[in-house]
Amino acid sequence: MNNKILRDLSYGVYIVGSKDKNKNVGCVVNTAVQITSSPVTIAISINHDNYTNKCIKASNIFSISILNEKNDNFLIGTFGFSSSKDTDKYKNVEYEEISGCPVIKNTNGYIVCKVISILETETHTIFVGEAIAMNKYMDENPMTYKYYHEVLKGSSPKKAPTYIENITEEIKGNRWKCTICGYIYEGDTLPDNFICPICGQPREVFVKI
Ligand code: FE
Repeated sequence: MNNKILRDLSYGVYIVGSKDKNKNVGCVVNTAVQITSSPVTIAISINHDNYTNKCIKASNIFSISILNEKNDNFLIGTFGFSSSKDTDKYKNVEYEEISGCPVIKNTNGYIVCKVISILETETHTIFVGEAIAMNKYMDENPMTYKYYHEVLKGSSPKKAPTYIENITEEIKGNRWKCTICGYIYEGDTLPDNFICPICGQPREVFVKI
């Protein structure tokens, strides 16, 4: 099986928000799809080990904030590479609460859904939700998964539904890899005081590959 074909499936990049009692939680998701138009029904896929998964099951509500190409990488770093269990991911993020669910400002907009069905797979839960609120903030190019990989040089955590093992790309020059998020830096030397543009960790977490 040539798993490279999987990269030809198109996806966006989204931040899914939900509630843990009074605390706001969330994570990065790239599998969100509109299933029907009337009523608007959306499906997302989230790993069983992800804290947000548990919170959606308890609160029966989730939001999708649709990222665009101008959104800061730190949004993906904050929501994609740490757990809501230990951190308040919304601490340094502009957001508002819509129908009791956090949505991120400065994105293209949001869809808030109530859960109407749940399907379990071996590793992930598929949540199907009916939209109860949606709005557009701006009209930038939506961030695609391809853009995230190829332009931002971002990678996927192992828990992502579309994680692919062992994809090797052409190596030119020196490369360093962030051991936290997988971001690859290319260049002669890794600059002093370098900070990972995706997850915000210092140069010490980088290894030469
Ligand atoms: Fe990183």
